Amino acid sequence: MNVTVIGTGFVGVVTAGVFAHFDNDVFALDVLADKINSLSKGEVPFYEPKLSELVGEGIAKGKLTFTTDYTTAIKDADVIMISVGTPSAADGTADLKYLKSAAASLAPHLKDGTIVAIKSTVPPGTNQIVREIIEKSTSKNFHLVSLPEFLKEGSAVDDTMHPDRVVIGATDKKVIDLLLALHEPISGTRIIVSPESAQMAKYASNAYLAQRITFINQVANLCEKNGANIDEVTKVMGADSRIGSHYWYPGLGYGGSCFPKDVKELAAYSLSINEGDGLFVKLDELNDTRIPKLMNKFEEKVGGFEGKTVAVLGLSFKPNTDDMREAPALKVIPILQQKGAEVRAFDPKANAIARIMFDPAVIVDSLDEAVRNSDIVMVLVEWPEFTTKQPEYFKHIMSGNYFIDARNQFNRREFENSGLTYIGIGQS
Ligand code: NAD
Repeated sequence: MNVTVIGTGFVGVVTAGVFAHFDNDVFALDVLADKINSLSKGEVPFYEPKLSELVGEGIAKGKLTFTTDYTTAIKDADVIMISVGTPSAADGTADLKYLKSAAASLAPHLKDGTIVAIKSTVPPGTNQIVREIIEKSTSKNFHLVSLPEFLKEGSAVDDTMHPDRVVIGATDKKVIDLLLALHEPISGTRIIVSPESAQMAKYASNAYLAQRITFINQVANLCEKNGANIDEVTKVMGADSRIGSHYWYPGLGYGGSCFPKDVKELAAYSLSINEGDGLFVKLDELNDTRIPKLMNKFEEKVGGFEGKTVAVLGLSFKPNTDDMREAPALKVIPILQQKGAEVRAFDPKANAIARIMFDPAVIVDSLDEAVRNSDIVMVLVEWPEFTTKQPEYFKHIMSGNYFIDARNQFNRREFENSGLTYIGIGQS
């Protein structure tokens, strides 16, 4: 099939690469010429495991072409997947300006019968807005559907080839059959629903996962006061099959390119229709205040940050990605600096991006350089490069003793036995 993917971000490049891998003829289109130039040479401008190989394979087989030209990319497309960004607007709602612009740009070049699928995360009802935009510039028949994306950065290629579910938000039988055929080599349960349900389910899934993180952080706060240990508590809770042991991450709250903005959208939407009784609003508020509150607790435990050197380890929003959108470090580092600390920060993959976001002098080239002679080590992201280190490694090269494990990834007893003062989450 001829497939065109609009927007070459994390979702777009992975989607294009996967459909090219399954022998479709794929155009991947973006408005950013520099990005398209790099991608055309097989250079992926962000870090995602297995993606460079996938893109290289698609280009070499002649199945994957990157372009900025809407005419070329759209005129023969059987299926167009729009995967442009939908960031939060100032009021928290999803900003649809990139989607609207993509719809206006593709419309004049459509052939008859093309399926236009919205992969971007958008509020239910968006299809009508997009339909009206497209109809202004074409008299051709087209089908507008929803194909929400559930991949996770860090395992995006595997997630796209082997998702838990393939959700098709469409009502026309012929369209559904064609999309089922396109997804045939991809595993996962097929779920066919209305476009509105598909879009609502995407938001609800992200909000549910964000809520699990927020919930367990609230329980962790209680554990800090009453002698319980959050890791033991989650072990007990997770053994209940109704609850499950997955996705309990006590720590710094949720970050990344999706959860914060998607919860904000649900919060703004529920307020605007006077529904939801404030759950999503509270979720958003609790997450926004999580890091400042934790930093106050840490400050107390280490006897103040003023004049101390703090090694901040992990700058991406999670391991296996260099994506720093809503990463904890973006809040943690300014707070440390404002409290008078000297920060030396390191990330195995996100250093280059971090040097654009912070004073480059703050970002150092290696773990050793960050940790050596520091008074305090603070682990923000559970990169294996950090979690495989033994306590002796830190003890020998640090000047001070405080080890803040903001992800509960290290063995408290081993760290204490080596003479370090271990500070975790949800334990007193
Ligand atoms: P991104 O910001 O990384 O990339 C979006 C790309 O779209 C950019 O390269 C931008 O230049 C391009 N673009 C903007 N306007 C355009 C236009 N008019 N024509 C062509 N290209 C245009 O975004 P992302 O992280 O890939 O996310 C895309 C969508 O998928 C969002 O709605 C997001 O919520 C959703 N999503 C993201 C993830 C994720 O993990 N990143 C997972 C599931 C769903």
